[in-house]
Amino acid sequence: MTIKYICPHCRSQFAMLDHPFATEASLGFYSLTPEERTHIISYETNGDITARIACEYCSEALNRHPELAHPLQ
Ligand SMILES: [Zn+2]
Repeated sequence: MTIKYICPHCRSQFAMLDHPFATEASLGFYSLTPEERTHIISYETNGDITARIACEYCSEALNRHPELAHPLQ
Protein backbone atom coordinates (compact mmCIF):
# COMPACT_ATOMS: atom_id res chain seq x y z
CA MET A 1 0.00 0.00 0.00
CA THR A 2 1.03 3.58 -0.41
CA ILE A 3 0.89 5.99 2.46
CA LYS A 4 0.62 9.62 1.53
CA TYR A 5 1.42 12.23 4.14
CA ILE A 6 -0.48 15.42 3.61
CA CYS A 7 -0.09 18.47 5.78
CA PRO A 8 -3.50 19.72 7.00
CA HIS A 9 -2.09 23.22 7.40
CA CYS A 10 -0.47 24.02 4.07
CA ARG A 11 -2.08 21.06 2.27
CA SER A 12 1.15 19.97 0.66
CA GLN A 13 1.94 16.32 0.17
CA PHE A 14 5.34 16.17 1.77
CA ALA A 15 5.98 12.46 1.83
CA MET A 16 4.86 9.29 0.18
CA LEU A 17 5.86 5.83 1.32
CA ASP A 18 5.44 2.58 -0.44
CA HIS A 19 4.96 0.09 2.29
CA PRO A 20 3.93 -3.39 1.15
CA PHE A 21 3.35 -4.80 4.61
CA ALA A 22 2.38 -1.72 6.53
CA THR A 23 0.07 -1.95 9.48
CA GLU A 24 -1.19 0.91 11.61
CA ALA A 25 1.15 -0.27 14.35
CA SER A 26 4.25 -0.35 12.18
CA LEU A 27 3.48 3.15 10.98
CA GLY A 28 3.36 4.48 14.52
CA PHE A 29 -0.38 5.11 14.43
CA TYR A 30 -0.98 2.87 17.45
CA SER A 31 -0.17 5.77 19.74
CA LEU A 32 -3.18 7.69 18.47
CA THR A 33 -6.55 7.63 20.16
CA PRO A 34 -9.38 6.19 18.03
CA GLU A 35 -10.66 9.73 17.61
CA GLU A 36 -7.30 11.03 16.39
CA ARG A 37 -7.04 8.04 14.11
CA THR A 38 -10.32 8.83 12.38
CA HIS A 39 -9.26 12.41 12.05
CA ILE A 40 -5.73 11.77 10.80
CA ILE A 41 -5.95 8.61 8.74
CA SER A 42 -8.16 8.11 5.71
CA TYR A 43 -8.41 4.92 3.76
CA GLU A 44 -8.71 5.41 0.04
CA THR A 45 -10.89 3.13 -2.06
CA ASN A 46 -7.78 1.59 -3.67
CA GLY A 47 -6.39 0.58 -0.26
CA ASP A 48 -3.95 3.42 0.07
CA ILE A 49 -3.74 5.49 3.22
CA THR A 50 -3.69 9.23 3.52
CA ALA A 51 -2.30 10.53 6.78
CA ARG A 52 -2.89 14.16 7.66
CA ILE A 53 0.17 15.13 9.64
CA ALA A 54 1.83 18.51 9.92
CA CYS A 55 4.88 18.86 7.69
CA GLU A 56 8.24 19.84 9.09
CA TYR A 57 7.72 23.48 8.27
CA CYS A 58 4.28 23.66 9.85
CA SER A 59 5.28 21.67 12.95
CA GLU A 60 8.04 24.15 13.46
CA ALA A 61 5.59 27.03 13.07
CA LEU A 62 3.16 25.34 15.48
CA ASN A 63 5.87 24.96 18.07
CA ARG A 64 6.41 28.67 17.94
CA HIS A 65 2.74 29.60 17.61
CA PRO A 66 0.63 26.93 19.32
CA GLU A 67 -2.49 29.03 18.74
CA LEU A 68 -2.31 28.02 15.08
CA ALA A 69 -2.86 24.37 15.99
CA HIS A 70 -6.46 24.35 14.80
CA PRO A 71 -6.40 24.33 11.04
CA LEU A 72 -9.28 25.71 9.06
CA GLN A 73 -10.87 22.71 7.43
ZN1 LIG B 1 2.61 22.22 6.18
